[in-house]
Amino acid sequence: MPVKFLDLYSQYLSIKKDIDLAIETVIKESAFVGGRHVQEFESNFAQFLQVNHCIGVGNGTDALEIAINSCDFPLGSEIIVPGNSFIATSEAVTRSGHRVVFADVDPECYTLTSASVASKITPCTVAIIAVHIYGHPCEMDPLMDLCKEHNLLLIEDCAQAHGAEYYGRMVGGIGHLAAFSFYPGKNLGAYGDGGAVTSQDPDRAKLVRMIANHGRIGKYDHELEGRNSRLDGMQAAILSVKLSHLQTWTKRRIEIADYYLKHLTGIEELILPVRKPWARQVYHLFVVRTERRDQLKAFLADRQIETGIHYPISLPKLQAYAYVGDLEPSAFYNSTDSTLLSLPIGEHMCQEQVELVVSEVRNFFLAK
Ligand SMILES: *Cc1c(COP(=O)(O)O)cnc(C)c1O
Repeated sequence: MPVKFLDLYSQYLSIKKDIDLAIETVIKESAFVGGRHVQEFESNFAQFLQVNHCIGVGNGTDALEIAINSCDFPLGSEIIVPGNSFIATSEAVTRSGHRVVFADVDPECYTLTSASVASKITPCTVAIIAVHIYGHPCEMDPLMDLCKEHNLLLIEDCAQAHGAEYYGRMVGGIGHLAAFSFYPGKNLGAYGDGGAVTSQDPDRAKLVRMIANHGRIGKYDHELEGRNSRLDGMQAAILSVKLSHLQTWTKRRIEIADYYLKHLTGIEELILPVRKPWARQVYHLFVVRTERRDQLKAFLADRQIETGIHYPISLPKLQAYAYVGDLEPSAFYNSTDSTLLSLPIGEHMCQEQVELVVSEVRNFFLAK
């Protein structure tokens, strides 16, 4: 029985009628850019997150960049990002004219720790990007305290964390601004690129909306120079349909994770991800660690079980960041990228497949 890492087609088939109708409606109304489908999704998603403002944009990388731009930091300011993320997080910093500073992550849930952030703050630091990586929320209170103390802004990167909660509060409305991605493979994914910026603050939201749409206040009245980064009507209509299933799909992810955690425990060579007691982890990825990562990956592939690696090279070790010169040998992100393995997880998996993954992983480690 093959196990796919991701199966967007089977997901489509399960909601085909509603998706087809949504697409047809957008075409019928020619509501391709802007219009009611975008407004409806923005309001649906804001309500889902319990956040005051949501602005649809072109993709998650743009969402981060526009969020940073809206803060109007002096050029060349330093922004602290985790060493373990997708490159979009740090790219957005550089592309907005600022300097990337890497900080270390928690060895149990892989999110930024306030201690490592604190050690990287200088007089040039203006912001922290807290990435809720793999779907696990960052520990927000200590980070927000640091921000208060040093007059920094906190930007949440929620690209992997739609619906994740910190002490019962959904991420996306805790920091000053937040960025979401709706890349197809994310927990809430469009049928193409898409993204959103969210905030509780009306002034920040207004500026974000202007920047994402040519700095407009009226049709041809531009208060500033912005850019073109918009969520299109088709993606918005698709996202509204999928949003109504997100909690069900997320519950299934958590159920699978609980099964993995229960049945893969006690294997000495295998380190399981830890869910902090205050977290609702939405398991965009279920990432384990083992020194025999490459052998385990090949063993599972032989048995038609797909796995992933997130990420094969940590950000500070990428060629693109050689110029930062930040390669402390003791840093956590330097020692673990060769041991990380993402097991398949998602609502596309049936119970037999979940059990198969468990039994094959156990076979790999425990069979004599
Ligand atoms: C996917 C992702 C992004 C970028 O989103 P895109 O929509 O692909 O531009 C940013 N940050 C993280 C952590 C991501 O996983």
